[in-house]
Parts: sequence; C-alpha cells; structure tokens
Amino acid sequence: MMMQINSNFDSGNIEVISINENGTIELKIRKDISMDFFQWFHFRLSGAQDKAVKIKILNAGESSYPEGWENYNACASYDRVEWFRVPTQYEDGVLTIDYTPSLNAMYFAYFSPYSYEQHQDLIHEAHLSDLCQHEVIGTTVEGRDIDLLKVSTGGEGKARVWLIARQHPGESMAEWFMQGFIHKLLDESDPVSRKVLEDADVYMIPNMNPDGAVNGNLRANIGGANLNREWQDPSEHRSPEVFYTRAKMDEIGVDLLLDVHGDEALPYNFVAAAEGNPSYTQRIAKLEKQFIADWMLISPDFQDTYGYDKDEPGQANMTVCTNAITDRFDCLALTIEMPFKDNADLPDEIYGWSDERSIKLGESVMHPIWKILNQLRD
Ligand SMILES: [Zn+2]
Repeated sequence: MMMQINSNFDSGNIEVISINENGTIELKIRKDISMDFFQWFHFRLSGAQDKAVKIKILNAGESSYPEGWENYNACASYDRVEWFRVPTQYEDGVLTIDYTPSLNAMYFAYFSPYSYEQHQDLIHEAHLSDLCQHEVIGTTVEGRDIDLLKVSTGGEGKARVWLIARQHPGESMAEWFMQGFIHKLLDESDPVSRKVLEDADVYMIPNMNPDGAVNGNLRANIGGANLNREWQDPSEHRSPEVFYTRAKMDEIGVDLLLDVHGDEALPYNFVAAAEGNPSYTQRIAKLEKQFIADWMLISPDFQDTYGYDKDEPGQANMTVCTNAITDRFDCLALTIEMPFKDNADLPDEIYGWSDERSIKLGESVMHPIWKILNQLRD
C-alpha cells in the first residue's frame, strides 16, 4: 500500500513536498489564506500501518513562532477523539515526527482540533437550555454566522460578563475552554454557576473566527485581518467578526471581558492584562490581582509566575481586544493564554496540554468570576 497525505477537510493544513516509501515524508505548512502567518497543521497519513515514518516539516523554522517548536510534541489520533502526543524533534529549522502507526490511517495536528461541526453542536446543545438565548450578530467574510450565546436567569441591572474565544483560529484550545465553561454555566445543579447567574448575564462568542478555523489558518481571518489587532477601528468588510461583536458590546455594555487564546511558546496558563493602557486605573489593577489570586486558589493549572512582559504605562497596543475594551468600557478585560505544549508545572507525558485539560480550565474560571462579580463597579 502506498503512503498518502491529505488535508482536504475542515481545518486541514499541509503541503506535500515528497513521500518516500523508505518512510521519509517531507511537508510544508501552508500560510494563512490572506496573510503570512503559519504554524497550524492538520493532516491525515494513510497507508503507513507498521511503517516507521519520519514526517519532516521543512519550513517549521520560518513559522510565526519558531520557539513554539522547542520542547513540543505533535498531537496525533487514530479516532479523532483521543489526541495523544508523539515523539517530535526540532533541529535546524525542521520539525521531525518519528512514529510507527499501528493502524493504516492516522491524523496529526498542532493541537486537538475543534471542528465547525463541533462548534455548531456546542451552540445548539446550549440553546436547548431555558437559560440560553442564541443570536446571530452578523456574518463573516465567507458568510458564516457569528454566534452569540446569552445565558441569563432574568432580572434587571446585573453585571454584563463577556467571554470571547478563538480570534486566532489555530488556537483551538480556546474553544475547548469555552465548551467547559458553557456546560458548567448551564448546569443548574452547579452552585457556583447559579451564584454567577444571580448577579450576571453572561454573553459568549465561542468562535470569533470560524472562517479561519475551517480554512486551517493560524491567526488570520479570510479578509486579510488579524482580528486581535482590529479593535480600535474594525472594518465591516475586512474584519466583520470584530465589527459586529464590538457593536453588540456597545449596545449591551461590558463589565468584565475574558478573551481566550493559546500561546505557542510558553508552557503555562496565564493572563495578560491592559496594564500599558491609559485607562488602566488602580481600581482595575486591584480587580486583576484579585481575579488571578482567586483563580490560582481553585486551579493548580493556572499560575502567575510566567507570562508576557508587562507593557510600560501608556505603551499598550490599543488595537488589541483587551486594551481597546478596557479603554472603551472602563472595565477589567483579560487575555487568557493556554499552552500548545504542556503546563510545565503539572506536565502530562501522554497528552501534554489537551482538550480535556482546556475544558477543565474553562470550568475552573467560573470561580474567580463568581468571587469578583460584586466588586466590578466599586
Ligand atoms: Zn491568540
């Protein structure tokens, strides 16, 4: 049987350079459609049962975050449900996966994918709950719906809490995180979720960039935009995903925003705040500190030792979502980052950082939200 590589499916991304029946396969990651970013890969290898293959990604060294390949092991799956790590080396700009598949066909990906079908299942399952309302707030460049979920137990004057995810479509862990959060929020036997909904209405966009996700992009949408650089002046044509989301935020208001991402390089979960922002006041700094402390109490997967360098006062990039939203609504807005690699504080040799762990982290963020709700406007 001949070995074959295919990526012609939802969130597929790879280019085949050569396939040698001695087991060496040479590949390249395709650039994002409309922009030069690349790092996300997702493909199927077939015809390789019991063959010792060396899959070489030749352009790994030119990718958007080459440091992302250091101490990184690729994700693989036979059934597209269980994604485990396979031995991977990064040397001289080439990423090499060494593996002997025990079945004919096997999938490989940068991280456990979250497909558009899964996205639709997530939306529709949520929308069966009496507490949940679904709204299409606009459409993407390729005409997909931008889905907003509102969860509320009714009543007036509650805090307006927003969670958005996957502005960067290759950060699929962000939608796994949302799945965990949404299921917990809609669990009417969960005491923390019940307390959150006593004091807040929760607005969620589990996938800000479905076009990029379906097309196997790392960071861009299909209109030529990095959505997390569009928040100062979004365009209805180039970045409608941000344009319609920001318009909806203007209509409803924002008291707390969490924007969920993944980070290629750092092997930790952390938050980044808007500290370089002119609107980053003492009040917001205090809220941020409390949120971090409360989250660390409930989840050992979350920490505050490692993260991004803090922006100097006034030096923030105001096109980034959390900076723009802090400025616009005078509220706490945090970027949540999860690893592609693993949490080095609590490593897992078989799965690394995984879909399951992203789900659990999404569940755990309910606790710091609950603890902070009554202070958001103090
Ligand atoms: Zn991101």
